[in-house]
Amino acid sequence: MSYLAETQRMLLVLLSCLYMAACSVLLLNSVRCFYGAIVPVSAALCLELLAREGAIDHVIILVVLFSVLFSELTRRQILRWQTAGLYNRFLSADMAKQLRKRTESLRVASQQDGLTAIANRGKFDEQLEAQWRRCSRAAAPLALILLDVDYFKQFNDRYGHQAGDDCLKQLALLLRNVLRRDDDLAARYGGEEFVLLLPFTDVTGASTIAEAVSQQLRLLAIPHHHSLVAERVTCSQGCACLIPQPDMASSELIEMADVALYRAKKNGRNRIEIAD
Ligand code: GH3
Ligand code: MG
Ligand code: MG
Repeated sequence: MSYLAETQRMLLVLLSCLYMAACSVLLLNSVRCFYGAIVPVSAALCLELLAREGAIDHVIILVVLFSVLFSELTRRQILRWQTAGLYNRFLSADMAKQLRKRTESLRVASQQDGLTAIANRGKFDEQLEAQWRRCSRAAAPLALILLDVDYFKQFNDRYGHQAGDDCLKQLALLLRNVLRRDDDLAARYGGEEFVLLLPFTDVTGASTIAEAVSQQLRLLAIPHHHSLVAERVTCSQGCACLIPQPDMASSELIEMADVALYRAKKNGRNRIEIAD
């Protein structure tokens, strides 16, 4: 076998290695196949060729071939990494967006009353503290109205629990519509009791709101033939207002409104009482 034929055989082996390595790189999506399959064999063959006289041209051809193949493989691999990186970035951005949306809807739901869809007691407590501090800093009045449906037990007994629920929903909507300012809050305090929190509002302002509630309820005219004060649903309201002081607790405002509400009940219901 001639020397040239042997060199050509080595060249063929080398090219086969290159071809197989390229295929496995594309198939297995890993540039490591290239190093693992081709580098040891080609290094050995290159050394062997270099040792032979006049074989330098073949070695140069091989090195060029290697370089072309290696740069092409590297380019493809980099492209793949870039695509994967972009895809992951879009995926995580999309997931983060969905997560933010879900967290926000859970947060809103946790502050909402299930029946009436207005703020619940938790949201009211949170807002009371926040507005208490705000009005305290500004030395501004904070008003609170406690509202209780009159003879609601009789309403349920007469018209059924479902009608009672509908009545509470209508009342909640009414309260929400009566409030005008962004910082005002209508919340379900519990059962058939509601609360209105009115920051930066004095007694006159609170009385106006309470009167508006009574008037709107009159216009709503939900029949209640088992009420002892009217032929329709009515409510009693207790209003309280003060300028929060650093040595006071916000619960004092609720207590004042509660006392006023109790007085409204005692004095005949379907009325508004203002705390002293
Ligand atoms: P008062 O005039 O003294 O306020 O009498 P009242 O009957 O309104 O008050 P009481 O505390 O005796 O009864 C409250 C009723 O409210 C009893 C309860 O079944 C009803 N209630 C509380 N929560 C709900 C509710 O979510 N849906 C319905 N349908 N009824 C409720
Ligand atoms: Mg009650
Ligand atoms: Mg009641």
